[in-house]
Amino acid sequence: MLTIRSAYHLAMEHRRKVLSSRFGESSTTRQGDLMIKLIWKQNIPTKIKHFMWKACKDILPTKSNLLKRKVQVPPQCEVCGNGDETTVHALKDCSWAATVWHFSLLGLRVDNSSSGDLRAWLSELHSKVREDKMAIAMTIM
Ligand SMILES: [Zn+2]
Repeated sequence: MLTIRSAYHLAMEHRRKVLSSRFGESSTTRQGDLMIKLIWKQNIPTKIKHFMWKACKDILPTKSNLLKRKVQVPPQCEVCGNGDETTVHALKDCSWAATVWHFSLLGLRVDNSSSGDLRAWLSELHSKVREDKMAIAMTIM
């Protein structure tokens, strides 16, 4: 029996298929969706979940993002002076961030291998550490 509810779900499924075939669903999109789900299911304070969500969406007020919004700031990282302050730089690639990761409970050695994509790095990290360590990693960020 066709109900309004089932018709709505059919329409939404059709829309999803059309959009997926038109624009293609990239692995980055799927990876990003998985990371967003991973963030929201962690047993961590909501404010950390929000921070991580903003980091994955690249909407944190880094200098790089402020410049995109026409705020006049020098783009360089003020902590290390090596590179522009992007989300990935601030949370991973900066020498200060790398030091924090190294001396954290996780003892991670980070490198610049994840091509500047925070979601790719989180995905890589997720494949290396146990599920409960992801909550620690997100809290460290
Ligand atoms: Zn830096």
